[in-house]
Amino acid sequence: MADRVYDTLIVGAGFTGIGTAIKLTQAGVDDFVILEREDRVGGTWRDNTYPGAACDVPSLLYSFSFVKNPNWSRAYSPAGEICDHIEAMVDTFDLRRRIQFGVEVNKLDFDEQEGVWTLTTTAHKRFRARTVVLSSGPLPDHKWPDIRGLDTYEGHKIHSAHWDHDYDFAGKRVAVIGTGASAVQIIPELVKRADFVKVFQRTPGWVLPRLDVSMPAAAQELFAKVPATQELARQVLYWGHEVTATAMVWDTPLTSLVARLGKAHIRSQVSDPWLRRQLTPDFTPGCKRMLISSDYYPALQRDNCKLIDWPIATMSPAGIRTSDGVEHHLDAVVFATGYDVHLTGPPYPITGLGGRTLNADWADGAQAYKSINASGYPNLFFMTGPNSGPGHNSLLVYVEGQIQYAVSGITTILRDNLRYLDVRADVQRRYNRRIQKRLTKTTWMSGCSSWYLTKDGFNASMYPGFATQYLRQMRDFRFGDYQAVAREAAAPAVSSTA
Ligand SMILES: Cc1cc2nc3c(=O)[nH]c(=O)nc-3n(C[C@H](O)[C@H](O)[C@H](O)COP(=O)(O)OP(=O)(O)OC[C@H]3O[C@@H](n4cnc5c(N)ncnc54)[C@H](O)[C@@H]3O)c2cc1C
Repeated sequence: MADRVYDTLIVGAGFTGIGTAIKLTQAGVDDFVILEREDRVGGTWRDNTYPGAACDVPSLLYSFSFVKNPNWSRAYSPAGEICDHIEAMVDTFDLRRRIQFGVEVNKLDFDEQEGVWTLTTTAHKRFRARTVVLSSGPLPDHKWPDIRGLDTYEGHKIHSAHWDHDYDFAGKRVAVIGTGASAVQIIPELVKRADFVKVFQRTPGWVLPRLDVSMPAAAQELFAKVPATQELARQVLYWGHEVTATAMVWDTPLTSLVARLGKAHIRSQVSDPWLRRQLTPDFTPGCKRMLISSDYYPALQRDNCKLIDWPIATMSPAGIRTSDGVEHHLDAVVFATGYDVHLTGPPYPITGLGGRTLNADWADGAQAYKSINASGYPNLFFMTGPNSGPGHNSLLVYVEGQIQYAVSGITTILRDNLRYLDVRADVQRRYNRRIQKRLTKTTWMSGCSSWYLTKDGFNASMYPGFATQYLRQMRDFRFGDYQAVAREAAAPAVSSTA
């Protein structure tokens, strides 16, 4: 049994966990440990090593403003380079000694008498801390699709999130199931390697061109010598993305302009009218995640590639049978079928005040205050939590706001020696009423089915506003929104006012 009580435990060593650790250290919080289930840092960018894996937000914006990298090799950097950048952050800020690898958290319990969280691991080890930052990621676990006969298939199965680099595609007939964000990156690479690629599409997405260029050496030099120029470039990108919210977040006349741009992109790259029809989406742009690619449509038109939009009826030992009765014989199937999105909370039990459990509280969809604190679960900070997802800007911009907020909360608890700080239920309720009302006007609620919504259509994932609005609310840590209980007191020592 572990009796040591840390000030803070951070779960997960992806961008978010490492960024939080940097900012905690800078705020003078030194007594913390990062628990990471794998043996390396990097999260998403460690796991997704499929050919073509790269960010689809420019690297100058898809990175933290407080750790600049002047050496990005491209406008949209590949996964390996992003992962190296996260490793470099760990070394620069001397964080490696604070990370415990191979530790998978599978349970959290709050002891309200002590004001201490106990984290249990799959190896039955226990860690205790006064505050916890859950940065285990928005998409940490990949998902196999629910296809009849999946287990009967005798060829090679590869999931995009766990690429098999030993498999040689040369001379092979390969299928890709899925046409989402990972698939549009994989397919252009796969058609260069495999004998034949069949792409199985359920719903075509909106695809906009990706203006990817290698970063000129002169720009890298300038960013290194005059960091203010990199900040300027970041600001230009930030505000450029903010403007796109008026088309991507809300359904406005500009949304139809995006649809026109998407259709023009299809027309300019696809010559066959039937293929154009197959690739034209029938939902409002923004409703599902936008796809950014300039080489997806050309790849589909190569002689060794074919788009199939007949629904998959079943998998068979030889391959895939579609509902038109055709059996597709395949040596390998690539599943670009996404992730388990935990819309009702983390996939392990969390027990808060009075024995309440998060999975029960969030059974109809997750709800938190400012996406980061949930009433009844004090001293616990959810990163990339409910309704924090962006539809138009870099996730890391939002994460910066969360880090700032979590650091304010943690330093308040430690400085004021609080047993706990719990967001008031009425404050959380009011906040969520506003969020859900604002969501009704967004593209995400315009009628398509997407992984942003629960099966009942509840949106527990996206933030209905500009990143600037989100950041403003995260800068404002209001003590009065919380019930604060002093360490020594039995009753609330600092009762907040409504
Ligand atoms: C293929 C792909 C491409 C993406 N591209 C973009 C993009 O271009 N732009 C963008 O804004 N966003 C993008 N995203 C979203 C992306 O997930 C985030 O931008 C970012 O990686 C989130 O960082 P994170 O640290 O919160 O989570 P992660 O990177 O997922 O890291 C979470 C870490 O927690 C660890 N962990 C999980 N559970 C446990 C546990 N129980 N115990 C201990 N450790 C645990 C994991 O091993 C992992 O290391 C992309 C996502 C994917 C999957």
